[in-house]
Parts: sequence; structure tokens; C-alpha cells
Amino acid sequence: MSFYDVYLKYKGFDFNDFLSSVTDSQIMKILSKEKLNALDFLALLSDKAKEYLEPMAIKARQLTLKNFGRAILLYTPLYLSNYCVNQCAYCGFNCKNKIARKKLSLDEVRKEAQAIASTGLKHILILTGESRKHTPVSYIKDCVKVLRDYFSSISIEVYPLDTAEYAELIEAGVDGLTLYQETYDQEVYMEVHIKGPKRDYRYRLDAPERACIASMRSVNIGALLGLNDWHKDAFFTGLHASYLQDKYPDVEISVSLPRLRPHFGNFAPKFTVSDKDLVQIMLAIRLFLPRAGITISTRERPQLRDNLIGLGVTRLSAGSSTQVGGHAIEDKGDGQFDIADTRSVVQIRDMLYSKGFQPVFKDWQAI
Ligand code: SF4
Repeated sequence: MSFYDVYLKYKGFDFNDFLSSVTDSQIMKILSKEKLNALDFLALLSDKAKEYLEPMAIKARQLTLKNFGRAILLYTPLYLSNYCVNQCAYCGFNCKNKIARKKLSLDEVRKEAQAIASTGLKHILILTGESRKHTPVSYIKDCVKVLRDYFSSISIEVYPLDTAEYAELIEAGVDGLTLYQETYDQEVYMEVHIKGPKRDYRYRLDAPERACIASMRSVNIGALLGLNDWHKDAFFTGLHASYLQDKYPDVEISVSLPRLRPHFGNFAPKFTVSDKDLVQIMLAIRLFLPRAGITISTRERPQLRDNLIGLGVTRLSAGSSTQVGGHAIEDKGDGQFDIADTRSVVQIRDMLYSKGFQPVFKDWQAI
């Protein structure tokens, strides 16, 4: 069995009918429950539940404090390359876009690493566009060997890999995977992934599970909110995380809630996801999955990120750049999308202290 079977179970489900039929008494009953089932979770994504954001927030705060304390992990992305063979309608790295392409040499990786490490960060997320030719697994491995000198935790956000390749990277020093399904709706997925290997929906969908099988320490999934009706994508993201948590209890499972951001190109999202929608999604996920990590990245504005502290978020990016070489290299490649929170690591650290939270620079050391 794979998560695809769970997806198929709900594929034909009448979401609109269910979401419009949710009542006050249903929501109140759900809020009094210890453990929510899938349809309870879906009900919390309804319009009716929007009237209950305050009690949802109170419960989410309690669950977050109980399971994570007042700690927020900080990390930053490091873009290794923006070469890509795919034509994803919504992304600046789309192979049809005429942008400045760049791949870091190992010397440049070291320079970037030194610049980031000087901010005190110990957790890093390395990213590439999807090009096995420009950034083969062997290159990622070489970069990881350099990065191990500077960081205690190295996560990857690269094209989906086979189980053996995940195992190879774990052996080299990778301990975390981030992989977004973008949208769980298979038809919409085929529409926005116009050309390239990424059109293989199943290969991507099953990749987080392959990483779990390879014994990845932490796996972070998500949908790119705005590509499809967010109620459905948020629902499937929660179900996917729950499926992985149940099947691989040794793996730390988290979700990210990325919203589409301006980028090079002219893709206009069909679906809007308001700040209030984003808050509702985060609270519903916290209530459904009390032990799951939740990441809110620098795609979101400072004020919104600050207001989410304590409600469910457990991990923040800081001092981000989506440019290849964006931290220390003069000759940079173009970025993937515009970020909204441009604050430095020090500013994010101080913001967390001012709210009575502990910024965590290191919670893991590979030995
Ligand atoms: S989303 Fe990923 S695969 Fe698609 S164009 Fe951008 S970098 Fe390439």
C-alpha cells in the first residue's frame, strides 16, 4: 500500500457538499475530542470552522506547548543550482525561462557555508532545480561532504530519488528531506507540470515514503497553496503526514504551508489563499496532528510570521535567499521566487526572545 491508495479513497469525495454541510454542533464536538479522524480534520477546514478560529487557536496553542515547548528551530535554505529540466508553470526556474543559470562549485559551496555558519545557524536545507545532468546525486553528495564541516543537520530539497539514492545521501550526512507534492489533485498536477520528468505524479507522491524506508531522520511534506482549491490540498497534506507518521513512527514528520509567491514568469494562481485561510489550515493541522512539526518560511510577511508564533509553528527559515550564491557569491544566479520576510537571523532570534520563545540553532548532531 502507498499513500496513493489513500488519495484514491478520497479522490471522488464530494468535498463541496461535505464542507458546506458542516454545523456549529459538529465543530464544537470536534473541539472537545482528544483525537480527530480524517473527516473531523476536513470539517475544521470548512467555512463554518472559520467562525471558531479563536477556540481552535487556544487548543492549538496548548497542543503545541505540550509537544514542542517554547522552542522554534531556525534554518536557512542554500541554493546549489537553478538548472532545471522541467516546465512547471508556477516556477521561476522553469526550463523555458531565460534566467541567469548557475551551479555552485565546491569552493563556492564552502564560501556560502562559511557565510551562513557565521550567523550561528547549524541547520541547513540545500536545494537544486531538477536536473540529474547538472546536479547528479554524486554532486549533491560532494556538497554534503563540504557542508558537514559547518552544519550539524543537512536537509535536502531536490528532485525525488530512489530509495537506494536516499540511503546513499543519508550515508553521506543528510538527515532530512523536504519534498512538496505541489498539488495532490492528479489532474491539476498534470496541467501545471507541462513538461519534464516531474510529470510522474506517482514517483513524486511516493518519494517521502521511499525516504522513510531509507531511514531518513526527518521528512517534511506540503502542497504549494494556491495551485488548487486549498481545502483539498490542505486535507491531503494532513492525511499524507498522518499516513507517514503512523507507518514510520521513528521518522519525524513535518508539514510546510508554502503559498505561491511572485516569480519570474506570468503564472497567475487560480485560487487565492488569504492570511485567514493560512491560519485556519495551520490550526486544523495542529489539532489533527499534535506531534507534527510545522514550518512557515520567509515566503510569508514578518508580521504574519510573528503572529503565528505559539499557535503551531515549530520551525522558521531565517536570513533566506532563493538565489544561487545568494549568501556570499558575487556572480549569483537568479532566484526562484521573491521572499517576503527579509529579516536577518539576528532579527528573527530577537523577535522570538521578545515573544518568550527559544530560538534553537542546533537540536541534532550526526555522529
Ligand atoms: S518547481 Fe522545481 S522542478 Fe519545477 S521548474 Fe521549479 S525547480 Fe524545476
